[in-house]
Amino acid sequence: MKVLTLNSGSSSVKYQFIDTSTRTVLCKGLVDRIGISGTSLTHKRHDGHQVVITDSIVDHQTAINCILDILVDQKHGVAKNLSEIEAVGHRLVHAGAAFKQSVLINEAVRNKLYECIEFAPLHNPPNIKGIEASLNRLSATPNVGVFDTTFHVNMPDYAYTYGIPYSYYEKYGIRRYGFHGTSHYYVANRAAEIVGTPLEELKIITCHLGNGSSITAVQGGISVDTSMGFTPLEGLVMGTRCGDIDPGLIFTIADRENFSVDQANAFFNKQCGMKGLSGLSSDMREIESAAASGHQRAQLALDVFCYRVKKYISAYIGVMNGADLIVFTGGIGENSTLVREKSLSNLDNLGIRLDPERNKCIRSVESLISHSESKIKVMVIPTNEELVIALETERIIKNSH
Ligand code: AMP
Repeated sequence: MKVLTLNSGSSSVKYQFIDTSTRTVLCKGLVDRIGISGTSLTHKRHDGHQVVITDSIVDHQTAINCILDILVDQKHGVAKNLSEIEAVGHRLVHAGAAFKQSVLINEAVRNKLYECIEFAPLHNPPNIKGIEASLNRLSATPNVGVFDTTFHVNMPDYAYTYGIPYSYYEKYGIRRYGFHGTSHYYVANRAAEIVGTPLEELKIITCHLGNGSSITAVQGGISVDTSMGFTPLEGLVMGTRCGDIDPGLIFTIADRENFSVDQANAFFNKQCGMKGLSGLSSDMREIESAAASGHQRAQLALDVFCYRVKKYISAYIGVMNGADLIVFTGGIGENSTLVREKSLSNLDNLGIRLDPERNKCIRSVESLISHSESKIKVMVIPTNEELVIALETERIIKNSH
């Protein structure tokens, strides 16, 4: 089946056109800076042909129109007409309590998705705009929603329940949901394939470290705990998100800075993390290079980031009473030798020993980076969320017939 995957963010739409039978990406691209000056569409075809189009793209509808046009463009495209798109798979961030698995989008589902906006006010609205725009142009094509939260739905209640009155779970659905589910799912499955052991027999800690970061404990193929929570703000220190803090800080800072609820939300999501700590950048490459040239707060940001990763990995070894594999993925996890080294340093008592040479692995290539005597194997596996979305989309459509 040929599936178009769409990942609609607030000012960008990423897409891939995937042939699921061969698992090949026919083309992929990104519309960036939607509604901002200097919008561009970068389109890459499987044969290496690439084009960048700069145009005024004012909203998600225009962005998706441009994507569909280029897919069937005589010079740059890969399809003769739009009917070659057999299905569209949308990445959706938060399913709230409404959806426990991927879903074929119809009128009732669309209404429910609007109800889920309150769970992720920053992420869900652009996701829904992407769905509306796709349905406007491809009304006869099945559209499927694949949620970031789905992989975590089978967490035990003691892992997803917060220490607040239980009635808030019942009334508002407040619980840990977890995110990056398609990524954790993909790398856990791929790791099991690589070591040749059924996923059901493995204890795996998957570390998705990117601009947003989360760590998941995967036992027998099930996410039994994950570092992000009701929102993606909890857990690791991220590019601009604070991760775990004393909740009391929210009141103290809001009080001192005279923040409204919305201002406080924006502050903890956009001004904290590596950006706030370093005073320099949210980008790990910049942090690493500044730290190397003696920038003390960049060094502190790096230390805080890696220490938090180490704490979660150690905790999840406890949660599962051991681990067989640790997997690094995401822009930082796949590329940063230094972050992997610092995060796993001095964990030999827990059975973790990196091989320094293997840890210098070629960027974004599947690699085993632990020492041959390490009890727990450590791997780098490039993530492939789009493939999971495409395969899920195909599965849902086949099941609906
Ligand atoms: P993602 O959100 O998964 O695209 O990851 C983005 C993050 O990966 C940014 O903080 C980048 O600085 C970081 N990153 C990408 N390449 C490298 C690298 N070679 N070394 C360190 N960090 C990197």
